[in-house]
Amino acid sequence: MAPRVIPVDPFDLVVFGATGDLAMRKIYPALYRRFVAGQMPPSARIIGAARADQSDAEFKDTVADHIRTALGPDVDKTELPGFLSTLAYVSVDANSDKGWPDLAAHLRADVTRCFYFSVAPSLFGPLAQNLHRWGLAGGDARVVVEKPFGHDLHSAKGLNRALAAHFDESQVYRIDHYLGKETVQNLMVIRFGNMLFEPLWNSQYVDHIQITVAESLTVAGRAAYYDGAGAMRDMVQNHLMQLLCLTAMEPPAKFEPQSVRDEKVKVIRALEPVQPHHIVRGQYEDGQGGGFRADVNNPKSHTESFVALKLSISNWRWAGTPFYLRTGKALSARASEIAVVFKDAPHSIFGPEAGRHANVLTIRLQPNEGITMGVTIKEPGPGGMRLMDVPLDMSFAKTLGPSSGSPTDAYERLIMDVIRGDQTLFMRADEVEAAWAWTDPIIAGWQARADVPKTYASGSSGPSDASLLMSRDGRAWRKITS
Ligand code: NAP
Repeated sequence: MAPRVIPVDPFDLVVFGATGDLAMRKIYPALYRRFVAGQMPPSARIIGAARADQSDAEFKDTVADHIRTALGPDVDKTELPGFLSTLAYVSVDANSDKGWPDLAAHLRADVTRCFYFSVAPSLFGPLAQNLHRWGLAGGDARVVVEKPFGHDLHSAKGLNRALAAHFDESQVYRIDHYLGKETVQNLMVIRFGNMLFEPLWNSQYVDHIQITVAESLTVAGRAAYYDGAGAMRDMVQNHLMQLLCLTAMEPPAKFEPQSVRDEKVKVIRALEPVQPHHIVRGQYEDGQGGGFRADVNNPKSHTESFVALKLSISNWRWAGTPFYLRTGKALSARASEIAVVFKDAPHSIFGPEAGRHANVLTIRLQPNEGITMGVTIKEPGPGGMRLMDVPLDMSFAKTLGPSSGSPTDAYERLIMDVIRGDQTLFMRADEVEAAWAWTDPIIAGWQARADVPKTYASGSSGPSDASLLMSRDGRAWRKITS
């Protein structure tokens, strides 16, 4: 099914960090796909900004190469020149006056103006200050900021203050690309667009919820950053927290930014402090002297490449229903899903020999975005009444066609939302701070106890203690499969 395309208004988008990895791998390919789809108007301008000196032509050549690498055969050669003609490059230094007048000269007065901070967070403040100083931040100019949004509550507050000094909160778009995923938005539609699930979406009917974001890749390539961050900061504080919020939140009155974000922040504030024995940290090793510590070149590293947690939400809807979260590197497969495990039927009329199966609603984020509902049926054949579990399966690629789930999908949607001025899928300042306020004591506890992560084999499903976290409660993790 071809998605409906509503073109956005003409815009000037300045990409600070224009020559960086994120811009090349995600931002330009995403914009290119929106251009081909007819959503990005040909009068739009994308202005790359970084310190390096280079001509427009050199910049365009590099962008074209990266689009070909990212999208391969998807690249429509007849469209590429048109897209490249929207690009320009300006050499600008966030920390000095260099290039700012030139940048100002590139911007038009009568179009939507967006500034994408695809740079280290230490440059957010200087960029905001210079945009203000050079008179570029007025009107309804928007800034987009990337994760990591801070290292802890203190630094996140500092970044929020630096942005708030020159931009209203309504102008700030904090990206979490998980929120741009089709299935994540579908989670809200499944819950609030159907009568079927919401009456059951509570501790009376739901036994527990599992949220898994598993990666098969190691930290290689991001080693220095990762050793300073760990899975808790890199994944749980942002991506998993967002998935938890969307799964657990109350219905907002409207699908609009303030209502949705109000409900999400209430979930974070209702989280109980996590008991130390409800957290498992892990570090992968390959059994041949290699592994996480070798990858980060730090033989004494205590940083976790895996974390599993059992969480409780103290409110009427969820009291008594645990949420189990896990994420890690070098696991058996790349797979992200939310599994809502319903309680057993209160009484089996078929007797114990028939077996029992709890219904599980699985919302699959990657790969193969889609939704599966496990339903109990009779095992076919004359062998008596035995029950089995079958999936009611809706793979988006099969049902809606291959247009969903492209590698740049989330960025495409989120960048277009910025241009449209829709903040619904972006994190608000208080939301980010609430997530850090919950995360900080956990990390401080590890540091105070000099906690050493458990080891796990690369390619496994994590440390054995993570299985114990579940089996102690008479439950089990779902298998990690791609
Ligand atoms: P990167 O590859 O190191 O690129 C950094 C960019 O910033 C370069 O274009 C660099 O160009 C520019 N830059 C550095 N200092 C500057 C200055 N003083 N003034 C103007 N430009 C300057 O970083 P990245 O991987 O693209 O990441 C960018 C941001 O996105 C970071 O906050 C990162 O944490 C976040 N992020 C990245 C990814 C990813 O997949 N890469 C994913 C999620 C979030 P010059 O040196 O020429 O100035």
